[in-house]
Amino acid sequence: MSFFRQEFTARSAAVRVRFGAGLRRAVAEELDGLGASRALILTTPQQAGLADEIAGYCGARAVGRFTGAAMHTPVAISEEATALARKLEADVVIAVGGGSTIGLGKAIALRTDLPQIVVPTTYAGSEATAILGQTEDGAKTTLTDPAVQPEVILYDAELVATLPVDMTVTSALNAMAHAAEGLYARDRSPISSLMAVEGLRAFRDALPGVLQAPGDLAARGETLYGAWLCGTVLGQVGMALHHKLCHTLGGSFDLPHAQTHAIMLPHAIAFNARAVPELLAPLGALFDGADPGTGLWDFAGRMGAPLALRDLGLAEADLDRAADLAVANPYWNPRPVTREAIRALLQNAWDGAPPAG
Ligand code: NAD
Repeated sequence: MSFFRQEFTARSAAVRVRFGAGLRRAVAEELDGLGASRALILTTPQQAGLADEIAGYCGARAVGRFTGAAMHTPVAISEEATALARKLEADVVIAVGGGSTIGLGKAIALRTDLPQIVVPTTYAGSEATAILGQTEDGAKTTLTDPAVQPEVILYDAELVATLPVDMTVTSALNAMAHAAEGLYARDRSPISSLMAVEGLRAFRDALPGVLQAPGDLAARGETLYGAWLCGTVLGQVGMALHHKLCHTLGGSFDLPHAQTHAIMLPHAIAFNARAVPELLAPLGALFDGADPGTGLWDFAGRMGAPLALRDLGLAEADLDRAADLAVANPYWNPRPVTREAIRALLQNAWDGAPPAG
């Protein structure tokens, strides 16, 4: 199939991207490249050990550590970390971790315009976007601003090798969701579609090997390659129904980010495949020529992903409110969204039933 379009606009951010197992040890070269001499290193409390390790590679240029990154980038934590960056007169932040830690680095950059070196340890893909989601008083808002786009990304397969198998699977499906929705984005370009298909292929081919041998650095490296491609798609084009549903379920019912993506993806794609079968055909082709939603559902099942919203603790009684919220503010989607159809889709996802389309 051809990804050519008669009219399109393609955007690419100026980002330096390096791949290599063990590459975190070369972080000082990136400080040189940026002309930076005062680095603030960011992690979650769980990954504080990594902050110490990275500080060791930076030597005297590591001026501080902030190990309080938290899920959904709470504004209070961003303010605290920004105050530390200012007090230390940091001239660069180094974020080492998943989307939560990367979000904190972006939040600091938004407030200070400091450059960011990002060392991802999950597949979520935030490192490749100029998007920042933040929470304050229980409400999550999302903004897009070039100031939050990280300047340098170091993909080190050794770091994802420690990602537990269940998180590996859900994080991979979270990444694949960016590519799947990118295939029908209104503002897609031939380049974003090529990246989407190759990102999906990388996960399809490499994830089974990772599950067999979580420490296999070649397979881990290829999944990180998939994460980069899928994250770059997210950074270039708009998302639709799937991301809206996950945002609603995460924001209003506190469901965990990656697991929710993993469960919802086959259902949202099956729903939209009815409207744009030709745009999702490359996805179906990747999964044995199956209907795209079914292909993803079978793959997720084979990988041991959670398949039912009920297993995430969502009450069946909440499905009506979730459907109301998901259709409250109109947004673009390739297939018109009705409350009735979304309620049925949510029921299927709650039951863990195959996608109905
Ligand atoms: P996360 O960053 O919240 O990490 C979850 C937990 O796993 C943390 O405790 C973390 O310390 C731990 N962890 C991370 N990597 C590990 C590893 N290799 N080994 C062991 N433990 C590890 O999870 P996430 O799914 O990467 O990120 C989710 C957040 O990212 C959400 O808030 C989401 O909204 C955001 N996000 C933003 C964008 C964007 O473009 N703005 C894109 C994707 C996700």
